[in-house]
Formats: sequence, C-alpha cells, structure tokens
Amino acid sequence: MIPLIERSRQFTDNIAIIDDSGNYNYGNLLEAATTLARNILDQAGSAPGPVLYLMPSGYQYVVTQWAIWLSGGIAVPVHTAHTAEEIRYLLADTGARLLIYDSNFETLALESNRQQPVAVAYTALETAAAASPLPDVAPPADALMIYTSGTTGKPKGVVMSHEQIATQLESLTQAWGWTSADRILNVLPMHHVHGVINITCCALYNGAACEMRSGFDAAYVAGRLGSGALSLFMAVPTVYHKLIQYFDQLPQQQQQSWQQGMQAMRLMVSGSAALPLSVLERWRQISGHTLLERYGMTETGMILSNPLQGLRKPGYVGLPLPFVQIRIVDEQEAEIQAPGIPGELQVCGPTVFRRYWQKEEATRKAFSGKWFRTGDIVEFDADGDYRILGRSSSDIIKSGGYKISALEIENEILECNGVKECAVVALPSEEWGEVIAAAFTGTATVDTVKEWLSNRLAAYKTPRRWIVADSLPRNAMGKLLKSEIRNLF
Ligand code: ATP
Ligand code: MG
Repeated sequence: MIPLIERSRQFTDNIAIIDDSGNYNYGNLLEAATTLARNILDQAGSAPGPVLYLMPSGYQYVVTQWAIWLSGGIAVPVHTAHTAEEIRYLLADTGARLLIYDSNFETLALESNRQQPVAVAYTALETAAAASPLPDVAPPADALMIYTSGTTGKPKGVVMSHEQIATQLESLTQAWGWTSADRILNVLPMHHVHGVINITCCALYNGAACEMRSGFDAAYVAGRLGSGALSLFMAVPTVYHKLIQYFDQLPQQQQQSWQQGMQAMRLMVSGSAALPLSVLERWRQISGHTLLERYGMTETGMILSNPLQGLRKPGYVGLPLPFVQIRIVDEQEAEIQAPGIPGELQVCGPTVFRRYWQKEEATRKAFSGKWFRTGDIVEFDADGDYRILGRSSSDIIKSGGYKISALEIENEILECNGVKECAVVALPSEEWGEVIAAAFTGTATVDTVKEWLSNRLAAYKTPRRWIVADSLPRNAMGKLLKSEIRNLF
C-alpha cells in the first residue's frame, strides 16, 4: 500500500497534471503508471531496486515515478541538465539495473550508460504488452532516493520510505492548508525535494492540480502568476529575484495586470536557501504577498515554517512543522534553552531519513542517538521563532574570537543600491583565524558598498576583502557555491 497513490484513487476525475502536452486527470495517471509498472517488472525482474529516470518535468515524469513505486522499486530522479559524467556517477553509486529516459535525452542516456544497466525509452515501456502482476508494496519500503544539492560536497543519496514521504506530505498539508481546490505552478528542477515533494507530491496527495514546466522562463511564469488561475506558488529565492528583475522592466500597464492576478492567489512560499530581506520586501511591493519562508533538508523534509495565518517575521523561518521534533545544542551537545544563543539544529521524528545510500560511515556521523545533525546554526527569539544563521561549515565565520553570520552581512550588502547578488565567505588568516570576504555583482563600487555598511554593521562584521564579479557560481537550486566563491579570492 503506497499512501500517496492510494489517496489519489478518490480523485479520479480531478485534473492532476497540466503540461505542454495537455491535461491529465488522476485516472489517466494511475492507469498509465500501472501499465508502465508492469513493463518495468518485465524489464528489471521482480525486485527492481533503484531505477533511474531521466525525464523532463511533466506528466510522463510523474507516470514514471509512480510506475517505479508500483513495481516495488526505488525512484531515483535524474536532472535533465546533468552531464553524462554525472549520470555515470549516479548509475555507479546506485547500482541501478534500469535507466528510463525520455526520447529527447536518448543521446545523453546512452552515452552515460556504457556499462551493465539497461537504458530503456519511456515510449518503449508505455507501449509494450504488460504482463507481470504488481507486488504488494509495504509503507516502510524504500521509495525514493534524492541526492542532496551538493552545496558542500559530493551529493549524498538520501533514502526515503513511502511512509516517511506520506508523513512529510501530511505535515505540509496541515501547515499550508492544501485542498483539492488548489492549483500550483512548478518551475523547479525535479530531482530535489522542493520540486518533487513540496510541490508535485503535495499537490497529488491532495487531489490538487499541478502545472509542470521544465526550466525557468520569467515571461512565462509572470504570465501564469498574473493569470489569476493559480492558488499557490513555491520557489527558491533566485527565482523570485529573477521575477523581480523581469517585473521591474515591464511597462506600467503590464505591471498592473500582473499584480491583479497575483492578488487572487492564497500563498507564495520561498525556501531551499536563505531569502534575502531585499527580495522579501520588493516582492511584497510587487505581489502584495509576504513570502512564507520555510526551512528544510533532503534528509528530513521540511523542518521549520512561518505560519499560514499570523505574523511572518522578516528573516525568520518560524516554528517546527507538525510531526517534527527539534532541539538546539552547543558545541558540547548540551541543549540550549534560552533565546538568542546560536547552536546547531538537530531533528528527529517520523519525517527523518534513516540512511544515506551505501554510506554507513556518513550515516553514523549524521546522527547523535536519535537526533539528526543538520549542520545548520540557528537561534530562537523570545516568541520561540527560529532564525537560520547559516551552515556551520561555511556561513559561520570565526574571526578574532567572534562568530559572525555570513547571511546577516549578505543581507546588508544586498540592500545597497546597485548590488545585484552577493556572497560572503571566510578566508583563512593567521592573525584573525578567519577574515570576512565579500563578492558581489552589479553596478555598485566597493567604496559605495563600504560606505553603505559603515553605519549599518559593526566594524568587526565588515568584510576586509572584496571582489566585484560578473556572476556568482550557483548550483541547480540557485544555491551559492561558497567553496568556489572562496577560490575567487
Ligand atoms: P549538500 O548536503 O549536498 O551540501 P544541501 O545541504 O544544500 O547540499 P539540501 O538538502 O537540498 O542540500 O539543502 C538543505 C540545506 O539548505 C539546509 O541544510 C540549509 O543549509 C539550506 N536551507 C534550506 N532552506 C533554507 C532557508 N529557508 N534559509 C536558509 N537556508 C536554508
Ligand atoms: Mg546538506
């Protein structure tokens, strides 16, 4: 019994997926997935294990994911922007016996698949005569393997069971008030939790409609947000940043029609990386929406969220979500009970993963008893609301005895006129331990930014080294790759 798929049986006639090729209801989805699942079993044998799928975002992506689940396999989504080399790493790391690909990516699929596994086109599986009966899949069975974003190192495969996914979906459903009347637009890559779980699976868990679109095109997204047809939108900060830039160069009249459509929406969410305050503010002026910022990880699903109803404090990510238990600990792993004291966030509960794929050592190190170590440094205020200060490995700068949050400095620099993007990193220093370095893009000069910071940040928080760059390196989720940025200096 796969909870997500079981639930969909009550929504047969609702529209589930809308993509460039048409509209598909839950009945279509289930039928297509069942046929495909039987063919997967014919191809891969009765216990398929990890099955990679290289499919662009859209209806057939979801059919494939559900088919892998119905066949008893572990779904491993592969980003269509990956290189053959990266896919070869995934094939080797998972030991998958089957790679399902969209015909448009045939060259990539065949090139990456030089060894033993079988690469089969979606179209072949869709049309073959299905014979094998489907197994009874138990909720604790492994369901999905998503690789972490690779922000701090090589991506790690995170294994999630069907019941863990279902608990994550139930948690977000309760917190964000999903119903079958919702309609969401998904423009995020379909190989990370944000696009896969928070958007697509959450919509399908609730009988809602999900518009799926590969890649990001500001004019298209603006048109959809302005259409008044959507109720929800969820994206990463870079997407909101790009939409702001697009909006700001539109003629007045078009700006207004866009604004009207957005007023009809009920919720806009941001996550996966820290939301700069400058983006939050400008987006509020443009859309009338205060973005709901949330915080989560591949290993745990979503952890903290601002409220659906009630105050969303700028710079804060709110409170723990349903089913999620958290604590903050100091360097000796003693729990921090008082507000305003930074420490590492740790998480436990039924949404948390149990293992990295074939990385026992990494799995062991990731836990302290039942608690998963996020590696993120946070603090809470007097109301119990949490604020993310950054990753202990890269965003917490230890300089001259102080612990300084890179995110706080980035936020101040981003407020300066003429700054587009900014990244703050630590550089090793014999004198200070570490010194603060800042890279930014835009038309501002280093002197104007320094001048801007002089009456906003304490001297010890002011960057000592500066670079003006043409662009800053980011990964597929728009996250700043700080180790590469450090190399710029
Ligand atoms: P890797 O683990 O491979 O280095 P990653 O940690 O970026 O990559 P994900 O699991 O996709 O991979 O991302 C989780 C991380 O994203 C969190 O640990 C946190 O650092 C960051 N993050 C997510 N949401 C927020 C947020 N709202 N504010 C700040 N950081 C966030
Ligand atoms: Mg991580």
